[in-house]
Amino acid sequence: MARKAPGKTDNRLVVLSGRKKSTRVGAVWLVGAGPGDPDLLTIKALNVLRRADVVVHDGLVSEAILAFAPPAAQRISVAKRKSRHSYAQSEINRMLVAFAAEGLTVVRLKGGDPFVFGRGGEELEACREAGVPCHIVPGITAALAAGASAGAPLTHRGVAQAVTFVTGHAAAGGEPNLDWASLARPNQTVVIYMGVSTAAAIAGRLVKAGRAASTPALVVENASLPSERRIATTLAGLSKAAAEISGPALLMVGEAMSGAVEAGLVASWLPTVSGAVR
Ligand code: SAH
Repeated sequence: MARKAPGKTDNRLVVLSGRKKSTRVGAVWLVGAGPGDPDLLTIKALNVLRRADVVVHDGLVSEAILAFAPPAAQRISVAKRKSRHSYAQSEINRMLVAFAAEGLTVVRLKGGDPFVFGRGGEELEACREAGVPCHIVPGITAALAAGASAGAPLTHRGVAQAVTFVTGHAAAGGEPNLDWASLARPNQTVVIYMGVSTAAAIAGRLVKAGRAASTPALVVENASLPSERRIATTLAGLSKAAAEISGPALLMVGEAMSGAVEAGLVASWLPTVSGAVR
């Protein structure tokens, strides 16, 4: 178990911040915070958050959700910001391991699900390498929330027999290298994360590979939040719709998106656990 902690030879002896010394075994919890609406947090996520000593969160996690952590818990934002230092993934990994090595309960809070385009796998690997216990709490990924609020099922009998989540960005930036021929087949839903800036290229690839330009498409920005916006369009209109978007958004393409409605579906009387007013 005494594997190497970052910068130290024995993680059992490390006290990195001079905070409280503890014989407690620390742990990292990779927790999905869901798409934004605090009511879409799981009960398990809520319970873990309430026991946090440290919360390391990214920019997609709202203040309403962070407020569930104890007031004494230390909060660290590792959001990507243009104007100031943003943390490299390796720095985040080191930070999680170092806090856990101090005996702390570390909650790494991520938008949606930690294992869906959330780099949770890399953080899990870092914990495993350091011998730090790491637990995963799944969250509702943005695609599920977007389909739900638009009334557009991601699979639908006779219309969508498969759903595929893809990234709109390659790891090194630019266009992703995807199997366009397979994504262009009809009767399936393709959900593109991080695809707003590459929407024109992606739509072009799909059409070139044979997907009908008239295939229904939906763009959903800020799914599940009061600022949610939906634009129902077609594959041909995808890049124009994406150009109107400024917040986090999904591009969803497929026959089943024909049922999408642009107006809100959420009943105004719906009681909320968080007390948020709709
Ligand atoms: N782990 C997250 C995804 C992180 S990648 C999840 O499971 O949802 C970041 C991308 O997710 C954004 O670029 C956007 O495409 C999508 N996204 C995250 N939250 C969203 C939301 N509330 N509405 C629409 N898209 C969202």
